Amino acid sequence: MEEPVQESGDCLQEAPPNFSFGVIADVQYSDKPNGLSSWKIMRYFQQSLLHLQQAIQEWNGEEPPPRFVLQLGDIIDSCNRNVGKSQEALETVLRDIDQSNVPFHHVWGNHELYNFKRDFLRQTKLNTSSMEDGRRDGPKESNDESGPLLDYYAYHFSPHGKFRVVMVDTYDLGVLGRKVDSKELQESLDFLERAEEENPNGSSNHLVTFNGGLGPKQLSWLDEVLTYSDQHHERVIIVGHTPIHPKAKRTPCLAWNYQDILRVIHSHQCVVCYFAGHDHSGGYHQDSQGIHHVTMEGVIESPPDTNAFGTVDVFEDRMVLRGRGRVKSRILLYREIHPASSCCCLTFEKKKNL
Ligand SMILES: [Zn+2]
Repeated sequence: MEEPVQESGDCLQEAPPNFSFGVIADVQYSDKPNGLSSWKIMRYFQQSLLHLQQAIQEWNGEEPPPRFVLQLGDIIDSCNRNVGKSQEALETVLRDIDQSNVPFHHVWGNHELYNFKRDFLRQTKLNTSSMEDGRRDGPKESNDESGPLLDYYAYHFSPHGKFRVVMVDTYDLGVLGRKVDSKELQESLDFLERAEEENPNGSSNHLVTFNGGLGPKQLSWLDEVLTYSDQHHERVIIVGHTPIHPKAKRTPCLAWNYQDILRVIHSHQCVVCYFAGHDHSGGYHQDSQGIHHVTMEGVIESPPDTNAFGTVDVFEDRMVLRGRGRVKSRILLYREIHPASSCCCLTFEKKKNL
């Protein structure tokens, strides 16, 4: 696995960052005993909430404070549903998140969708899309079309002048949290069937129901947002639950249509990093276009004497991930942004090679 410089804390801090943010994944809270997962890996249910509390305490004490926290999904575990405690578990974690001095931005993972239907999730505090940028001169908002709300949960915001964060829904294409008779469920099942036929020789182990992908409408929306960011010379971080690069994960945790997602991202110059959770062992890869794929280690598989979260300091030329516990610290240099006039050629080249 290719890794950039790793260091321990006080790296290259000669000038203060433009802003900082926290990042954490896969708390998977449930009030149940610790035990092995189906993959025979220990899950520390009795510690996961304590780990979240500790992370919030540290972020609250940081100076300068982070501007916001990215919560990468699976905040509660699926087993809450089996004992009728989904809402109770959600209220428990949200009470702790209320202790944060800074806002959380949430993405939805498979465990949110094991516990709740999408319509319900939209009514909870896990729906943070109201923090979307509403500026008239900004890129298209996810729900600004006339007619009913779009069925994916995605939005973007600009925390600093030339920087944008795009939250994507990696279960828009997916079978979890869908109503039995919905057209979205049928379209997702059809997609899976087609994809399995097209990947017959062992390259399809990611085509499972605990993964999902971005549907055509969301991909088109993402393309429009990234076009705006290209035109306005912004740098973009994309945030989703599921990894989108095969080299940034260790298990079958990978978006169904990761090639389609990468194709859209690679046709733009603005994206510098994609943050994911889902694969609790974490991962990292810098792809052929220089985009950093950071898969955060999961809180739920962090033993009592450690943790898994980080603070990212954003500078003009790089981001510095200060990892805590199992999360490695990394310096993430930005790729070069080329003049707009060379955009088309680069796009063509990029499409040939993911
Ligand atoms: Zn997950």
